[in-house]
Amino acid sequence: MPSASLFDSIVGGPPLIQRRAIAKAITLLESTRADHRAQADVLLTRMLPHTAKSFRLGISGVPGVGKSTFIEVLGLYLIDQGHRVAVLAVDPSSSISGGSILGDKTRMEKLSTNENAYIRPSPSSGTLGGVAEKTREAMLVCEAAAYDIVLVETVGVGQSETAVANMTDMFVLLQLPNAGDDLQAIKRGVMELADLVVINKADIDSAAATRAQAQITASLRLLGLHGHPDRAHHDRQQWHRKVIQISALSGQGIEGFWAAVLEFKNLQMSNGQLSTRRQHQALSWMWERIDVGLKQMFQNNPAVRERLPALSAAVQSGRMAASTAARQLLNACDPGRDLGSMAEMKMVPGSSPA
Ligand code: GDP
Repeated sequence: MPSASLFDSIVGGPPLIQRRAIAKAITLLESTRADHRAQADVLLTRMLPHTAKSFRLGISGVPGVGKSTFIEVLGLYLIDQGHRVAVLAVDPSSSISGGSILGDKTRMEKLSTNENAYIRPSPSSGTLGGVAEKTREAMLVCEAAAYDIVLVETVGVGQSETAVANMTDMFVLLQLPNAGDDLQAIKRGVMELADLVVINKADIDSAAATRAQAQITASLRLLGLHGHPDRAHHDRQQWHRKVIQISALSGQGIEGFWAAVLEFKNLQMSNGQLSTRRQHQALSWMWERIDVGLKQMFQNNPAVRERLPALSAAVQSGRMAASTAARQLLNACDPGRDLGSMAEMKMVPGSSPA
């Protein structure tokens, strides 16, 4: 399908054709062929104006906390409210485990068969950067296809949480009711990422859930991440992180959860933070891809490849300073600089530039 008709099918095609077009577009975006990539770039540029109205919600939590149960119940609730919901996942470990742990359709049975939902498991390519990039682009495709709510799921371990927080408008951390007993387990960094902390499985032990809610709220305050009640009226324009309780299994608290999301969204829209966050994200995605691209170009450069083994050995054995080797390799990569330094060297014996 040429990219023009692919675009039309994504943006306005009937449901079945649209689904196929989304899958095709994502395959195109994931292709390593240069001609595919060029088509994908044209497609992305055309789709961008259609992505502004969406809301991107990141959802994280340790395995077993209830993410897929929550996403299923939330997704169906949102569809009931007239939304279209896309579910994407970032799970760099899925290539190791040989399958998609997250976004697995069998875990969200009702949602996956609903025509207003689109569920895509985590791309199973090695690095986190690669997985995050593919998910970001898939997100844009879904948004162009009028999925106005995008849920991006990730596991509560390591850098994948940062990656998801950096591609979404709001980041939600799911916790178990016993989390409050072991606050050490909740790292400060993750707390800083979380715009909303949700204690799930409140039905199991409501006293424990209430205790956890109080403890996490107190620790947010201690970390300066939760506004002090006395100061709240001074900065109504600022979001104060919240902690709420739900039971994904019974659906209890889902309405309250969505009300908190809307409160956040409305505030961030009125104070301009929503668009600022997206602008920052877009620029940092660009620089991230430039970093990756430059490194690839560098490593593929014939002069670098030729000199790298000897210079690496020299650094390893302590015969050459790491910074000297790096400079020589960078110079090797840039013929202009090489010529410049050769000209300088020629001038050295007895000649003065002045
Ligand atoms: P995930 O690994 O984070 O996606 O967690 P799952 O959604 O697969 O849930 C793990 C287990 O917890 C499943 O057996 C769910 O039925 C159960 N579960 C999820 N949410 C709740 C809840 O609110 N209450 C109770 N009692 N069980 C829940």
